[in-house]
Amino acid sequence: MCGIIAYNGQDDAVPYLLEGIRNLEYRGYDSFGCALDSKVGIIIKKDIGKVDDVINKYKVQNLSSNKAIFHTRWATHGGVKTENAHPMIDCTHRIAVAHNGIIENWAELKESLGGHKFISDTDTEVLSHLIEEKLNKGADIQTAVKDTFKQIKGSSSFIVLDKQSEDLVAVKKGSPLVLGIAKNGNFLSSDVPSFVRHTNKVVYLSDGDMVVLGKKSYSITNLINKDVKHEVSTVNFSAKHAEKGDYEHFMIKEIMEQLGLMKNLESTDFKDVIQAAALVKNAKLVYLIGAGTSYHAAMLGAKALRENGINAVAVQGQDLITYRKVISADDVFIIISQSGETADIINVLPLMSKNKKIGIINSDGSTLAKEVDVFIPIGAGPEKAVASTKSFTLSGVYSTLIAMFAAGRNEDAIHDLKLMNMNMYNLLVPSVLSAIDKAAEKIKGLENVFFLGRDSDYIMALEGALKLKEVSYIHAEAIDAATFKHGPLALISDKVYAVAIVSESNRNDTLYNLQEVKARGGNIIGISDKNENVFDMFIRTQEGGSFGFVMQSIILQLLAYKTSILKGINPDRPKNLAKSVTVK
Ligand code: GLU
Repeated sequence: MCGIIAYNGQDDAVPYLLEGIRNLEYRGYDSFGCALDSKVGIIIKKDIGKVDDVINKYKVQNLSSNKAIFHTRWATHGGVKTENAHPMIDCTHRIAVAHNGIIENWAELKESLGGHKFISDTDTEVLSHLIEEKLNKGADIQTAVKDTFKQIKGSSSFIVLDKQSEDLVAVKKGSPLVLGIAKNGNFLSSDVPSFVRHTNKVVYLSDGDMVVLGKKSYSITNLINKDVKHEVSTVNFSAKHAEKGDYEHFMIKEIMEQLGLMKNLESTDFKDVIQAAALVKNAKLVYLIGAGTSYHAAMLGAKALRENGINAVAVQGQDLITYRKVISADDVFIIISQSGETADIINVLPLMSKNKKIGIINSDGSTLAKEVDVFIPIGAGPEKAVASTKSFTLSGVYSTLIAMFAAGRNEDAIHDLKLMNMNMYNLLVPSVLSAIDKAAEKIKGLENVFFLGRDSDYIMALEGALKLKEVSYIHAEAIDAATFKHGPLALISDKVYAVAIVSESNRNDTLYNLQEVKARGGNIIGISDKNENVFDMFIRTQEGGSFGFVMQSIILQLLAYKTSILKGINPDRPKNLAKSVTVK
């Protein structure tokens, strides 16, 4: 899940790439490294630590070059050590390689490279030595990269800087890589927002693409399938969408953006939702596939489909393998992914090869967006905080819309969207914000928190617990309020806090379960549209019809965010995590 950005052109690459790599830091932030072409050879600066810390330490801002690669790492192979930071060089210092992905057969490849001096423990370093081998035998850089690409297994995108060549050479497989075509040069990057201030003309690369990036021109050849087309797309978001603006963190910016994004839905024509609804209506079974937060959106969609009379099940990406004997050609898949690059889903795509696929995805041009028959771009815009917020709620809304449209309930759906947006104005009033602050103040000192709810409130409990874990490092566990009595109730004492999510449709049953918690001394933070006696603390949410989960979600996101801040954690960069999980 590393981030890579490279520039080759007539301008100085350094200011572009400094801006770009800061933008990509959400993809990994344990080490930073860069390789710059210069008259005296390749300059490499790399170290462990945050991007800005390493940049300042080595005064990267004072360097200049018009051909360079910057990289931010999220370690998969080899610990967080300076030697393991990218780019990797070959024994002769002729080339530098920055990589995103995993080389599955790295151990055997390394063994075959007996005479070479390895300085890191990474899988990536086999790339620089494999390329070197071929260069030593007289191959040109393009042939050397092409032949190396053929030798490696797994998902890997990498960019190579060769001091003897005018061009940068890159290949894409599995991990994302996008080409940006600017006035005075060209970019290659893990995502578009990292260079969108300089151009909105992009080519979303496909697996197998090899790019030769010149200063004025570029060429793309697909090494797997010669028929792949490479159209230039114009992206429709501006740099401002990828910046924090007046907000202190991306997470809070993205939480607040949901209010406007939900309102925008009212003026959407939902053409793609109508197409998706037609597909699921005739399905034998609808599988909704997601990972992490997107799996919770898949659960919301599956529940909405079942409630609208359509047989549906939510499955976590990697778990689809256990369904391999029962998937039939009449089943339809709905794939939910923020990045469109989630490895746990890409890996199970072969199991869906005979099926119609719908994608609820935030990234145009991503691997998964290219694989589906109906692509529903959720239009959340860049999501930079590691914890997903706006992508989750929009995915939940879109999967619910498909269910309602498939049941012919288009008017109900539009009505409920309007109801949600109307009530949204009352959601974040001062009394609610101060209730969230008080709850966060309580939670920040705890080691464990339970999240309870039934039915869709249970899905929100799962999501609320995940958000809290991610950004506050507090152990949080979601339990269906109905099943609490089957074991977990044994953990309750007067020191225990449970966040309870209570909707009208489950009110009586959930309150009954909460009484059981209360009777054993437990403390309850209630999230509901009505205050209840059983609540020790109360955060008011609003009615939103079929989309009430959006309001609950915003409250849960704010609760996690505020707790994170109170604990002095940067919620945008939680430890050990990175966004877009492009590894297994
Ligand atoms: N496998 C490489 C490393 O550990 C790249 C990791 C990644 O792309 O996440 O350095």
